[in-house]
Parts: sequence; C-alpha cells; structure tokens
Amino acid sequence: MTRTLAERMCVICRGRRNKSGLIRFVFAEGTLPLEDARQILPGRGYYVCAQGACKEKWLRKAARFSRRAGKRG
Ligand SMILES: [Zn+2]
Repeated sequence: MTRTLAERMCVICRGRRNKSGLIRFVFAEGTLPLEDARQILPGRGYYVCAQGACKEKWLRKAARFSRRAGKRG
C-alpha cells in the first residue's frame, strides 16, 4: 500500500486529512499564529482542520502558546 497524498494531522483532533482540508499556521516566538494560506511560510507549521471547531480551538490554544514563548522563564 503506497499513499502519495500529502496527509497531515490536525493538531487538535489528530485526524488525518489531505492538506487541502487543513489550514497551515506558522508562528515564531512571541508572535500570534499566522495563517499560511499558500503553505509557503518558513518555520514550524501546525495544521488544523479547515472546517469545524478545530480552528477556533487552535487559535485559543495558540494564543496561550505564543504568550508563553514570548516570555523568558
Ligand atoms: Zn481537527
């Protein structure tokens, strides 16, 4: 069984989807997550379902992440 489709896992529900069903977010230290619509931005990418509650949950979670990342200690 070979699958060549680029599948990624949603960081919220951990469901596997084709990239087209997901939104990629990138964020650097101390910044809010940036929606990477064209999936070309450098940096660590996080994939979240494009539909459903995952995006909303992710944004809330990411806001907490980035606040923590922006502080030292
Ligand atoms: Zn999801």
